[in-house]
Amino acid sequence: MLITLKKYTPMQNILNFHKAELENWFIERNFTKYRASQVLDAIYKQNIFDFQEMTTIPIELRNILQNEFSILEIDSYEHIISEDSTSKILCKLSNNKAVECVLIPNDKDGNFTLCLSTQEGCKLNCKFCATGKLGFISNLTSSEIITQYLLTKKLSKSKVSNIVLMGMGDPLDNFENVLKALNILINEQKQIGKNRITLSTAGFSQNIINLADSKIGVKLAFSLHSAIQIKRELIIPSANKWKLPELIKALEYYYISTKKPITFEYILFAGFNNLDEDILALKKITSRFPCKINLIQYHNIEFTGHKSELIPANLNEILEFQAKLKKYSINVFIRKSAGEDINAACGQLALNNKKSSKI
Ligand code: SF4
Repeated sequence: MLITLKKYTPMQNILNFHKAELENWFIERNFTKYRASQVLDAIYKQNIFDFQEMTTIPIELRNILQNEFSILEIDSYEHIISEDSTSKILCKLSNNKAVECVLIPNDKDGNFTLCLSTQEGCKLNCKFCATGKLGFISNLTSSEIITQYLLTKKLSKSKVSNIVLMGMGDPLDNFENVLKALNILINEQKQIGKNRITLSTAGFSQNIINLADSKIGVKLAFSLHSAIQIKRELIIPSANKWKLPELIKALEYYYISTKKPITFEYILFAGFNNLDEDILALKKITSRFPCKINLIQYHNIEFTGHKSELIPANLNEILEFQAKLKKYSINVFIRKSAGEDINAACGQLALNNKKSSKI
């Protein structure tokens, strides 16, 4: 279903403002700073995205706000629901930017996990990822990241209980904007706890350290996919910028600073990264600090027109690999896939597949 919203006009986006900045904005115009809390409460607590609907604010002030600020930066969005109830939301943002985010129902509590995008496209060009095939288009602003959250929160009938920054782009390649969005959502607007947010990266060792030093305290997942440098570079060409020893040191620093175990993501390819040498390399890395490995099934990206030479491991091969790792007392899990039929599963976000053509 394609929904077209009121045309976005480029103004200052209020979601980009820290609360203190907005309070100053009101004070400078001779309004009480309490108006900032009223506006932010309307947006974050009541899901009101039109200043004219904020009835706690005097009409004159609503008119001023409407002329000065935008709220959601969306021209239109399309909501596609999968057979397993996962839904993909394709957002056409301002300046013709477009991104996808995914709502995944949780098994246990009926709530949702929201997978957010942080860039339009991606520089890293991972061989198994549809987003990588787009190349890099742009960084999302913090307000564009928050916009995805607010829209999906309104669309989902249940609570968004977890957020994963695992959509389009590498969050640590857009560090400042991502950190600002997280600060606003976690610390200023108390939308979600830091322990319920996982940020996933495939490199950027210095920004792993910077993230630890920022004290934002979210959980960290690392897209490893091979613990052997040469193999890793074959599937993640840009991995040649960050050698594994340097990355593992940065991850160890993250663990020591935050006391949060690291998650390693590992897509299993038959005959490539499921060999005995891979198990030994994983054993070495995972012995450094508390961590777990999530084994992920490879998802088809042929809808993008790119045929991959990588052969997906089948379920038996994944189970066998898991059993071998367990013999070394490694915490290893098989991550369930969601939304493959609507190209919303891990590595499938691409903007240009058939079902997103309306945007
Ligand atoms: S897997 Fe992540 S880091 Fe790699 S190309 Fe895709 S979005 Fe970028």
